[in-house]
Formats: sequence, C-alpha cells, structure tokens
Amino acid sequence: MAILVIADVLDDALLPSTFNTVTAAREIAALAGGDVHLLLVGERFDDSAKASARLPVDKVVIATSSGLADRNVEGVAKTVLAVVGNDYSHVLFGASSFGKSVAPRVAASLDVAQFSEITAVKGAALFERPTYAGNVIATVEALDAIKVITVRSTAFAAAQTGDGIAQIEKLDAEMAERYARVTERHNEVSDRPDLASAKIIVSGGRGLGSKENYDRILTPLADKLGAALGASRAAVDAGFASNDRQVGQTGKVVAPDVYVAIGLSGAIQHLAGMRESKVIVAVNSDPDAPIFGVADYGLVADLFTAVPQWLEAQ
Ligand code: FAD
Repeated sequence: MAILVIADVLDDALLPSTFNTVTAAREIAALAGGDVHLLLVGERFDDSAKASARLPVDKVVIATSSGLADRNVEGVAKTVLAVVGNDYSHVLFGASSFGKSVAPRVAASLDVAQFSEITAVKGAALFERPTYAGNVIATVEALDAIKVITVRSTAFAAAQTGDGIAQIEKLDAEMAERYARVTERHNEVSDRPDLASAKIIVSGGRGLGSKENYDRILTPLADKLGAALGASRAAVDAGFASNDRQVGQTGKVVAPDVYVAIGLSGAIQHLAGMRESKVIVAVNSDPDAPIFGVADYGLVADLFTAVPQWLEAQ
C-alpha cells in the first residue's frame, strides 16, 4: 500500500508545507514500506507539476477540473476519496487551513479517526502530536486501515527537490455539491518573508497600544532584521494587525531561528504557536511576564524606549 500526500498549492506554486509533509510521508514509508505519491487537485498545474516531479516521491497524480479553479474543499475531498480507493494506507495533509478543511471531510467519509498535527513519526501507525496547547506530547496509535493525518510543518524538514523525475499520472477531478463559493480573493503583496517560513519573526502584543504604534515601532525593526511580522491574538483582536499574522494555538504555528516578542505577555495559547523557536528574545516591562519563562534573552524595559534604542544601536 502506498502513502498519499495532498499538495498545498497556491497559484500554480507548491506551498512550503507540501515539502515538509513529503518528508513526514518518507519517514512513514521508511517504516511501513510502500511508495509515496503526491496528489495535486485543482484546475490547472504547470510549474507546480514540474516542481512536484522533482520531489522525493514515486509518483505525482494530477487531478484537474475547470470547476475546481477555487479548489473548493467539497470537490477536493471527493477527488481525494476517489484517488484513495483501496490503494493507500496513509493520507497526509499539511496542517494548513487548506489541509485542516479537507482532512476531516476525508476522515469522516472513510469513517476513520483523524490524527491532527503530528510532530514525529515513531512507527508505521505510531505518531507524536501535541495536546493541551503544546504542554503535553501524546504518542498515539492509529488503528484504522487508512490513516488520515495532518502534519505540523515546523516539525519536519523540507524535502529537497532533486534531479530525478517522478512519473506523472493525470486524471479528471471529481465535482461535488458545494456549499460555499469564493467571490473574491486578496493576496497580500509584500517583500517581507512569509510568516510560516520566515527565519526571523518580530511579533507584537497588546502592550503596543494601537495599530499606529504596531506599525511605527515594529515595522522598522522587522525591516532591519529582514523579519516577518507576527502578533498576539489580543493585538489582532484590537485591530493592530491582520488576522493572518496571529501566532498561537488558534493562529499560525511557527519555529523560526529567532522570535522577537515585543509587548506581549506570553500567554499559554501564544506559546503554543512559537515555543519551538530556536532563540526567543522578549521585551516586556513586567519582569513577571510569562514570556520570560521561555525567552533566551529578556529585556525588562518599556518597549517605546527599548525598541528605538535597539534600532539606533544596530
Ligand atoms: P496581554 O496579555 O495584555 O499582554 C500585554 C503585555 O504587554 C503585558 O505582558 C505587559 O506587561 C506588556 N506591556 C504593556 N505595556 C508595555 C510597554 N510599554 N513596554 C513593554 N511591555 C509592555 N493568544 C495568542 O496570542 N494566540 C492565539 O492563537 C490564541 N489563541 C487562544 C485560544 C483560546 C481558546 C483562548 C481562550 C485564548 C487564546 N489566545 C491566544 C489569547 C491569550 O490567552 C491571551 O489573551 C493573549 O495572547 C494576550 O495577548 P498579549 O500578550 O498581546 O496581551
């Protein structure tokens, strides 16, 4: 039996989570045996198909339909189910919003359990996954014949593309009754690194006090460090930053080389999204703020004084 990875794609480009999910699939294949196949579902794939074939996978399956231009989850899930058939033992998605919306539909239709956000492969059916906002790492065994899994990208290295060219199989995607329609899409165009894959992140919290301060204080620091911008949920809820910048249990999970936390307390739900960062730097006026419990470098100071001084000193 083979292992199927469902690619995360945007505008004919493979998203970084696909590369990490392929690594997780290869780890399972090393223990369970079987080939790794990559499935692309949507309207049309050119560059992403070529890039897919150079990944360490044994086959690329491309399922297309003109009705899947918006990659609506109902149609994608139906196509995944048709491809899975009786041929696959594991179906892997990145734990992105795309994967998180398709995987449960697939698991429910197959009447199997879903294993969410695995962070390590311990056996063909044995995985680690965080629970209680990352405070407990559970080892879970998947007993169903088909294992539906989402993979936490930050826990697996990105698979490298090589010179080998995997076989490409093309088929028609399935259409399904849909319950929602995409009416508009806004892509943020920015020179800044993407939050999910940035090596350095500058993140701000409620301590910044306003959107104007968030922009005025954090943007020059992020520019100087070549960093992506993040935020706590309190900062997002207060309108300092857009929702896609939220880091944490209900936001993005990140693990950059350096995470700079400015004026955020380090609530447990925030830590759940960034505690795996290699180096954590915190600036907070409260010496008892929980962020100092995980910080490698902590500065107890007023951020409105400390950040401009930091910029000047660079
Ligand atoms: P606060 O807790 O208000 O902290 C502000 C900090 O700024 C304080 O530590 C203060 O000392 C410091 N400060 C103030 N002024 C200054 C100054 N001038 N200079 C320096 N420091 C200053 N939160 C997330 O972030 N991400 C999530 O994904 C998330 N998911 C959640 C899910 C659930 C189910 C629940 C219940 C909560 C979730 N939260 C999440 C919310 C979380 O519990 C906290 O409320 C939130 O993280 C607090 O944000 P904050 O640290 O910016 O604000």
